[in-house]
Amino acid sequence: MINKLKMLGEYVQKNEGDNNSFNLNNTLESANVIVLNFFLDENDCYFKEIDIYEYDKAKREKVLLIKDVKGNKVSSFPTVFIDAKGIDKSLKKLNRILKVCKLINPKLSSLSHLFNKDYLDWVKSLDDAEVNDQQGSLFEKKSYNYLNKISDFVSQDNSNLCTIHINGEYVGDSKYFQPIKENYLTSIDKDYYEKYSTISLGERIHCYTCGCVAKKLYGFCSTFKFYSANETAYIAGGFQKNKTWKNYPVCPTCANYLRLAKEKLNGNLNRYFYGNKYFLIPTPTLDRGDFYENLKDIEEDFRDIALSKKEESNQQLRNELEEDIFETLASQKDQATFTFFFYKASNSEFKILQEAEDILPSRFQKIIDAKKKVENFDEFLNLRGLYKKGESHNLSFNFGIIKTFFPSSFNNDFLDITTKILKDQKISKTFITHQISEHLAKGFRNEALYHDIEKAMIFLKILYELNLIEHTKGKMEIKMENKYEDYFKNHPEFYDADWKKAVFLTGVLAQNVMDIQYQNRNATPFRSRLNGLKLDSRAIKRLLPESIEKLEQYKSNYYYELEESIAKLMESGEPELKQQSVDEISFYFAIGMNLNKQFKSKKETEGENNE
Ligand SMILES: [Zn+2]
Repeated sequence: MINKLKMLGEYVQKNEGDNNSFNLNNTLESANVIVLNFFLDENDCYFKEIDIYEYDKAKREKVLLIKDVKGNKVSSFPTVFIDAKGIDKSLKKLNRILKVCKLINPKLSSLSHLFNKDYLDWVKSLDDAEVNDQQGSLFEKKSYNYLNKISDFVSQDNSNLCTIHINGEYVGDSKYFQPIKENYLTSIDKDYYEKYSTISLGERIHCYTCGCVAKKLYGFCSTFKFYSANETAYIAGGFQKNKTWKNYPVCPTCANYLRLAKEKLNGNLNRYFYGNKYFLIPTPTLDRGDFYENLKDIEEDFRDIALSKKEESNQQLRNELEEDIFETLASQKDQATFTFFFYKASNSEFKILQEAEDILPSRFQKIIDAKKKVENFDEFLNLRGLYKKGESHNLSFNFGIIKTFFPSSFNNDFLDITTKILKDQKISKTFITHQISEHLAKGFRNEALYHDIEKAMIFLKILYELNLIEHTKGKMEIKMENKYEDYFKNHPEFYDADWKKAVFLTGVLAQNVMDIQYQNRNATPFRSRLNGLKLDSRAIKRLLPESIEKLEQYKSNYYYELEESIAKLMESGEPELKQQSVDEISFYFAIGMNLNKQFKSKKETEGENNE
């Protein structure tokens, strides 16, 4: 991964240059900037007026808003975020920043004085009468006004920045801040080798990333906290922090590449995925001059297709976004590979959850093709209430469907399956079937199966189509020519054993019984015979005679053909059925229950209705 980042950083450097050497805030797109204008020369320093202007990202070097200044750290330049309620706090921040600035450039001392707490308190204590007094200096009056008026300039519906202007120049342009800028640039690499007051610098050894021998190598180059010197040091170098360069030495060039790569990822290639976050890391397959063009395209496309947590419940949108992402990646024609880096970041911890490495665009195309193929089956078309009550929609496959069966508490499994699908790796069918049938049984008990059976089917169909789960073909001796067989032929990957057909059809029959019960009694007591949808071979066997008995009882046995088919299939499939798990049996039974209507002839339906 670190090599991929380095490569990405190199392309960025080559094509974009290092356009952010001040490590400025990259994410801010718009803001209201409150500018405090000051006059400053050898003898005098005073406040002039307040201006506002619209933040322009392209001109951010003017205000030098440095990103990621957290907690008690002091930014290097006097531009801060501000809100109407926290103006005092923001002024305090500016005060602290200017105090450091004046140490580097003493010419800023008088400006720093104007942000002094004592001074600000004194100005604030003035009242209108004192300010209007002819004796008071113009400067004090103005200072009084500015402290009381900042809040008037704060925008309610945009972010607010507060910065200063000296003699008509922004911080970034002002000669007064030139020494501070220079100081910043020389110290920026410090983070890579100085931490906890410890210096970790190596000399003339090989760079961990590029292998070159450099004059100096940094020991704390932690691109992501996971790769921080801390972790590797604990493993190999104990707690001797000053020796971390021995474990993970990075040359200044690589440190810069890694920083640029990280910025690129955080910019447009950082995405939300069903409760997880991931970075999409594009890597050229060969050293290609035109890779940067691809990168730009991907970035551009990715910008518009971000799924946010808020939108996660909108399944239609989810489908569209996933399709767009896959199509975007598939269109790259194997000039690049993609790594999905699922991670979890909280405070100082950065945890890798899963890494789906080096996926070729053709793989995405394969998944798209499989998706299109399975989505065409009748079972998935026009499902009423799929997305909205009272409306019909077609079911399509997306990774959210996997999440249905592997919810948050199974997040690692969810990501594991996702990764395996992306990487074309085999998945354990037993494991998947178990989870699906647990979910279906729970839904059955709560009478809340919201098209989950169709979702399970489409999920398995995709896995079969992509050849990711094994086929467990069994004995197939019974030849039938009826509507049931027509259905089985449509889904050969599901119905490749007599016992599977038998169980499926028993599910159809059981649901028919319940439909008739419901017609007659407005209740379905037969449900209690289904063991909460946890069925073994014995339960399946007893359900055939029990169903027939019930149907006779209601004088509604319209299903001789079905019963006969079950009996034949059962006889042939029974030895194998006995060896099957409850999970797999219950799954086939549930599909049967779900699809019973599909097989009812007009006569049968009428018969039921006439009862
Ligand atoms: Zn290097």
